Amino acid sequence: MLQELWGQARAELQKTVGADSYATWIEPLRLTRLDEGEAGFASPTRFMSNWVSRHYGDRILSELARAGGAVERISFEVAAPAPANDTRPAPVPAAATGAREDDMTAPLDSRFTFGNFIVGKPNELAHAAARRVAEGGPVTFNPLFLYGGVGLGKTHLMHAIASEYRSRHPEARVLYLSAEQFMYRFVQALRERNVMSFKEIFRTVSLLMVDDVQFIAGKESTQEEFFHTFNALVDQGKQIVISADRAPGEIKEMEERIKSRLSCGLIVDLHPTDYELRLGILQAKVEAFRGTYPGLQICPEVLEFLARRITSNVRVLEGALQRLFAHASLLGCEITLDLTQSCLGDILRSSDRRLSIEEIQRKVAEHYNIRLSDLVGPKRVRTVARPRQVAMYLAKQMTSRSLPEIGRRFGGRDHTTIMHGVRKIEELKLEDRQLAEDVELLRRLLEA
Ligand code: ADP
Ligand code: MG
Repeated sequence: MLQELWGQARAELQKTVGADSYATWIEPLRLTRLDEGEAGFASPTRFMSNWVSRHYGDRILSELARAGGAVERISFEVAAPAPANDTRPAPVPAAATGAREDDMTAPLDSRFTFGNFIVGKPNELAHAAARRVAEGGPVTFNPLFLYGGVGLGKTHLMHAIASEYRSRHPEARVLYLSAEQFMYRFVQALRERNVMSFKEIFRTVSLLMVDDVQFIAGKESTQEEFFHTFNALVDQGKQIVISADRAPGEIKEMEERIKSRLSCGLIVDLHPTDYELRLGILQAKVEAFRGTYPGLQICPEVLEFLARRITSNVRVLEGALQRLFAHASLLGCEITLDLTQSCLGDILRSSDRRLSIEEIQRKVAEHYNIRLSDLVGPKRVRTVARPRQVAMYLAKQMTSRSLPEIGRRFGGRDHTTIMHGVRKIEELKLEDRQLAEDVELLRRLLEA
């Protein structure tokens, strides 16, 4: 039924998307489930999921609906590619009768390796600890508890540990899953009166990795089961790796005894990224994209711009770069700063961190020791006009406001005046070292 539906929708898509795109993007997808209006697909990589969802999501949805499916949403999940006629359900919400370890462990994203993980100050400790655990030597810290904000590489590191460990110890049983999946499996085992085999599986692994453990906070019986599993493994000297979005002590509604158990190994946090790390990640991603987009050029200024402006997390940074490449390759143009600003407007705006033009003006006025009213006012003397241009330049560089908008905030000036000011500073920065330093200093102050 599922396969028929997808078969029909695929046939239509084949007609409309073109042979190449079909072979690249649609063919490798597997429809694995359809419940409550959501069609779940398995796709080989996360990159592919993103791409397909962005570029073909609507069409897939409407073709599924036309083929008679009650579909309102689609979702993707990364899973190893399988033969085209394989109807095996997706590993995650699929029903597993007679639980086996293979059904328990979540698929690993093949891109999440140590080789693809860029190390910088903010994550070097977490990386080193992850490497150590992946070697699989004597267990020295148990558990390894990795925590940090969203999109900073926790899952990436965990997958890297799992794959590395598996390749070094092919005979070992490695179990990686999210806390949500842990709960799901546990509840399922309860329902199917299968708790014994559930316990059996979890207590006989060499390495257990539970991602996003904060999820089970407040879920009493799951916590209880987790606690027992945890203790059983620690007692046997088996390695455990846990991740969460915050430190153990800060997870509310987590039982005290669990918190203290979680805290007795090594706790390392992934700090928010810094500029160098973001730039390094971007450069590595560009390299990785070369295969997909041969011949596409991106200038270093664009990467620096992105690294400076998108500070929230690595996932957003990657998404921005992906979108940029996709746009440029579809439009057949070079990736310039202009394209970047127009194509990523929404991302840039949400990364603006409330940095307003007024703040920029205030800082600049303060720095040059002039009045704010003069900075935006009509005076033309150099001592005021130059700082004004610096402020215009920073407003253009550091916010996503358009030239006319910036003009309005500079006492209703025309957008050409703003453009002139921005250009002037760009030029002067090259020859006037003092000015270049002023601009850099102000930028750093405003970024802080
Ligand atoms: P988290 O689990 O902490 O929310 P993820 O591990 O899912 O974050 O990371 C989000 C994305 O950012 C992934 O695609 C991951 O590959 C990438 N990423 C994060 N940190 C790094 C890094 N240091 N080097 C390369 N890629 C990274
Ligand atoms: Mg994660």
